[in-house]
Amino acid sequence: MQVTFLGTGAAMPTGDRYQTGILVQEDDRTVLIDCGAGVLQRLEQSGVGYEAVSTVLLTHHHLDHVADLLPLMKARWLAGEEHLEIVGPQGTKALVDDLLSVFEYLDGRLELQIREVVPDDEFTVAGFDVTSYETRHSVPCLAYRFDDRFTFAGDSEAFAGLANFADGCAILAHDCSFPDDVDVSNHPTPDSLGKTLSGVEIGRLYLTHLYPHTQGRHEEMRRSIAEHFDGDVRFAEDLQRVTIES
Ligand SMILES: [Zn+2]
Ligand SMILES: [Zn+2]
Repeated sequence: MQVTFLGTGAAMPTGDRYQTGILVQEDDRTVLIDCGAGVLQRLEQSGVGYEAVSTVLLTHHHLDHVADLLPLMKARWLAGEEHLEIVGPQGTKALVDDLLSVFEYLDGRLELQIREVVPDDEFTVAGFDVTSYETRHSVPCLAYRFDDRFTFAGDSEAFAGLANFADGCAILAHDCSFPDDVDVSNHPTPDSLGKTLSGVEIGRLYLTHLYPHTQGRHEEMRRSIAEHFDGDVRFAEDLQRVTIES
């Protein structure tokens, strides 16, 4: 399995990190998790291309996770692709309908399949077996686990339920929006993330959803996490590709 971080930033630009997008691939299967602003460009730069993405899995409906959905639809339509499946939490169908009602000329250009999933669900998406878990965020948000290989925590505070959900996974990609001195809710601090992951078996932790506040402070954030979590901790970068052996 290959995981490619397309966008490792969040709602405020850093200049080098686009908004959330993660590509999961194995053999001829491809799913794009989230589609924030810049992800369409990163797809092209990754060599995978938007033509290869016929399934998008959304964690939640914040703009920095869905902003490039319409641009992806339009690009696929112009390239002659005929369909797109969008899977996400409750309200995904209404979101897509509302987006298309603003840009009516895009309505009907692609055959859209919309599927809504719930927390603690087990389902197949683009041929991958996935389980879902509700995170702690300001709007309903789902974390997704791809068997024992990859978990994406979406946007979330750090908490034991989510840590248990990811326990035993080779790779966990977790929101780490801000350094410790930023007073934050709905996202973790490095300290809270380290404490929550203490004793949890994760092959490697990738930190993502990075706000500009984190620039120049990676080492300090890593140390804060390492005070409680003794696993391998890295900062994800846009276009970084990670291969996970099965
Ligand atoms: Zn969010
Ligand atoms: Zn976000």
